[in-house]
Amino acid sequence: MRKLSADIIYPIQGAPIQEGVVVVDEDGIVLKLDIRSNHAQEELEIYEGCIIPGFVNTHCHLELSHMKAKVDTGTSLIPFISGVVSQREAPKDTILAAIAAAEDEMIAAGIVAVGDISNVEDTFAQKSKGRLRYYTFVEFFDFLQPSLTESEFKKYKAVYDALVLADGHQKTCVPHAPYSVSANLFDYINQVNTADLSTISIHNQETPPENQLFMNKTGGFVDFYQGFGMQLDAFEATKQASIKYAIAHMNPRLRTLFVHNTLSTAKDIQAAHAWSDRVYWATCPNANLYIENRLPNYRLFLDNDARMTIGTDSLTSNWQLSILEEMKTIAKYQSYVSFETLLQWATLNGAKALGFDKDLGSITVGKKCGLNLLYRLDEKGSLCQDTAIQKLV
Ligand SMILES: [Zn+2]
Repeated sequence: MRKLSADIIYPIQGAPIQEGVVVVDEDGIVLKLDIRSNHAQEELEIYEGCIIPGFVNTHCHLELSHMKAKVDTGTSLIPFISGVVSQREAPKDTILAAIAAAEDEMIAAGIVAVGDISNVEDTFAQKSKGRLRYYTFVEFFDFLQPSLTESEFKKYKAVYDALVLADGHQKTCVPHAPYSVSANLFDYINQVNTADLSTISIHNQETPPENQLFMNKTGGFVDFYQGFGMQLDAFEATKQASIKYAIAHMNPRLRTLFVHNTLSTAKDIQAAHAWSDRVYWATCPNANLYIENRLPNYRLFLDNDARMTIGTDSLTSNWQLSILEEMKTIAKYQSYVSFETLLQWATLNGAKALGFDKDLGSITVGKKCGLNLLYRLDEKGSLCQDTAIQKLV
């Protein structure tokens, strides 16, 4: 048994506790949450800073870890995707070593669960070790080409079938993005995901050409597909934002995690909320800066009571895999988002989005949530650019 104490404990579910104490058993399960005066001083581990639950990273592509610093920053999404496609190949042992190192990095950064996109099986052996809790989103795309729908579905369904889940892990089949998934492929995917309590993820409104494609069938994606010899004959502009196409083809009974949302407007957010009460939003601010050099407008999400979560995206589009670094970026550029709000996004909201909140996301008796110390806070006890993390449990 350990009794850990800090200047303040943020249980997330419940009010912050000044000079609080969290008691955990040898497995890390929370037994009790109270205050220092209830304990003999010599039994306590006392830290400067705040204790928070383990972080939940709702968006990563662990299988792309070997491409760290390979693709240029600031080019925008379409050149970025071209860079990923052309540089993805590497020797198997390089790929596997990078996956293991990236997982180590996430564990050291206090992350306890990950929503991870897979196109191939490369991460499955690492995931089976159960060192982090994974929700694997096996991702499908057919580039809006009817001639590819069936063969691409079979290809990715085989990846999905190959994943043997470790204890507590989950998997679903998910559409990549509105601009890369035909209506028929959405239907195929929906037929696999029948459990109401599963989570579906989809990349959303990450770059201006995405809405251009849906509004007018113009812009960079038309050229991008033509560059690969693919015409968009079967695709007709919907004359609406891309998210409308996505929700027209997705199941509102499932939890849906919209990822990036860099260009989402208040109307887009409201449309998603009107469609389903199980909507979550994942923001990956450092990846947005890396790829597009811009950020979502978080005010719109706050004003619409959006359930926000935080992801790191992959090492291909980020400098590190750290939820704390993502929080710092939001705090730096949109400092009206409070520290406590960011903590909620980074922990409990992420756990709920992945359906892992029975065990994770808050310091609650019975949960095995992981415990992190944040230290070097500012004079008000808030996050600042110097803030560092130590994984305690
Ligand atoms: Zn992604």
